[in-house]
Amino acid sequence: MAFEGLTERLQKAMEKLRRKPKVTEADLRETMREIRLALLEADVNFKVVKDFVKKVREEAAGAEVLKGLNPAQQIVKIVNDQLTELMGEEAVPLNRAAHIPTVIMMVGLQGAGKTTTAGKLALRLKNEDHARPMFIAADVYRPAAITQLQQVADQIDVPVFEKGTDVDPVEIVREGMEVAKQNHNDYVIIDTAGRLQIDEQLMDELVNIKQLVNPDEILLVIDAMTGQNAVNTAQGFDDKLDITGVVLTKLDGDTRGGAAMSIRAVTGKPIKFVGEGEKMEDLDVFHPDRMASRILG
Ligand code: GDP
Repeated sequence: MAFEGLTERLQKAMEKLRRKPKVTEADLRETMREIRLALLEADVNFKVVKDFVKKVREEAAGAEVLKGLNPAQQIVKIVNDQLTELMGEEAVPLNRAAHIPTVIMMVGLQGAGKTTTAGKLALRLKNEDHARPMFIAADVYRPAAITQLQQVADQIDVPVFEKGTDVDPVEIVREGMEVAKQNHNDYVIIDTAGRLQIDEQLMDELVNIKQLVNPDEILLVIDAMTGQNAVNTAQGFDDKLDITGVVLTKLDGDTRGGAAMSIRAVTGKPIKFVGEGEKMEDLDVFHPDRMASRILG
């Protein structure tokens, strides 16, 4: 289960504090040490951990926790509030264009879940907004990618614009946008190519697509299971593309959770959705406060 180790360790640290008849400065220091280790072990970025612990300590000092009636309970509340703040405070909705179509560009490393998430998002838009989305298949490097997008699209009854694998992706996107405009699609979701790692050529291509369509959303799809790498990946994509949001996938797996807690702090970009399974329905809006409660257990 996601966050299992982290939740357990945080709970243990709090429980220890609760059992003390009187909480001293030294107890508080020990609790902070345990929180720090728990976060580091969960693959939270070390700088994020450092800032987080510092903030919790400051809040605890400011609230004069040790003088209060129930120090342990207060610490739990402070940790909960700080976790929420760390992950962005409020859910951030999808950007929408003033005039249709809203253009959403999906980017991310190969296998992160781009195509699956594109499908999940389209289904969500159909169900919630009665939207008429269209996909553009802009991954021309793997023939299987187009087939896969087509399969996803068939499941949710969404049209795909594709030109096979012999046409330049930027040209495909240009033509696809024309078709979407003619058909009055209100959303265009562009499935771009991924690689195993960030490379210059891919980034240049994505930048060219971005410049052509000026997307309302550039959603970076990140596999939550990739730990510290998730943060490096996010930073790499954001530096080049100035992404507008993140979708964290595979939170149904046993991720230790570091990505969920680090990405917002490191990139300043919000996590907008989380993927919690392989089915088209398995996409949820990311709520920082609910995630904080889930982590604390
Ligand atoms: P892409 O290469 O980025 O387009 O990635 P895909 O969409 O092909 O996804 C790669 C694999 O991850 C597929 O087997 C998906 O079913 C799976 N996947 C995607 N999102 C999730 C998720 O939220 N949870 C789980 N368990 N699997 C996912």
